[in-house]
Amino acid sequence: MNYLEQFINAISGTLNWTWRSIIFDVSWYNNYFWGLILISIVVWGLEIVFPWRKNQSIFRKDFWLDAFYMFFNFFIFTIIISGAYKCLGLLFLNFGVSIKSLTLINLSQLPQWFQLLIFFILLDFVQWLTHVLLHRFNVLWKFHKVHHSVKEMGFAAHLRYHWMENIFYKPLKIFAVMLLGGFEPEQAYIVHFIAITIGHLNHSNIKLSYGFLKYIFNNPVMHLYHHAYTLPKDKSYGVNFGISLSIWDYIFKTNYIPKESGSITLGYKGDEIMPKSFFGQLFYGFNKKD
Ligand SMILES: [Zn+2]
Ligand SMILES: [Zn+2]
Repeated sequence: MNYLEQFINAISGTLNWTWRSIIFDVSWYNNYFWGLILISIVVWGLEIVFPWRKNQSIFRKDFWLDAFYMFFNFFIFTIIISGAYKCLGLLFLNFGVSIKSLTLINLSQLPQWFQLLIFFILLDFVQWLTHVLLHRFNVLWKFHKVHHSVKEMGFAAHLRYHWMENIFYKPLKIFAVMLLGGFEPEQAYIVHFIAITIGHLNHSNIKLSYGFLKYIFNNPVMHLYHHAYTLPKDKSYGVNFGISLSIWDYIFKTNYIPKESGSITLGYKGDEIMPKSFFGQLFYGFNKKD
């Protein structure tokens, strides 16, 4: 089959899978569509019952924009990009590079839960590293500004990010999967659901820091300071880069929680020029002035 056929097949396959998820035609544990909605409703419910910033509205600033982003980044963009990813995979295969060609750790003999734990930790680390790079290099930061343009924090802000970020995160994620032999990432849906839940909670309007577990798990208090407008002088590129785990920030000394106040100013210097609409943000970052 040629590349064009594969391209079209991948897009129609992903579209079909998404549609089957919507009409409950896939197993419940594989259903990211309704899974995402369920997690969102639960975390939103917790925000309503236990709000940290009591004066924040249930439908906070940009609630619907962020709700749309959830579906765009998780489903619409995934469908659009699936053809390109398929062709790239085939191209690499033509050069003899497959997902199994870099195996460093063979997991096939280990118990399933341990395989998943290693996958979770490794995947989280490469995402932490990617996140640091997004802050460190201006060409990447321009796109990451979209995520940092959140001015009022709530669970759905989790998935407000520029579609280019999906592409930036991909290489290191694939590299992580390549290192693990005998492991099928398609089986890791539980890991992804846990990551979505932690990410939603990190952005939620709930004061949670998990006691001593805060040194392991990222949490809403820690992540709020990641979005702080004012950063400490010696950490001007950013703090608290953790995705699901906070441990990397403690190891690499990028942690920063001055006080547990929920009422700090969010954003970044110059955020007033960020377009307010989805379409404005869609094309943001490509311009020299951005
Ligand atoms: Zn960031
Ligand atoms: Zn965030």
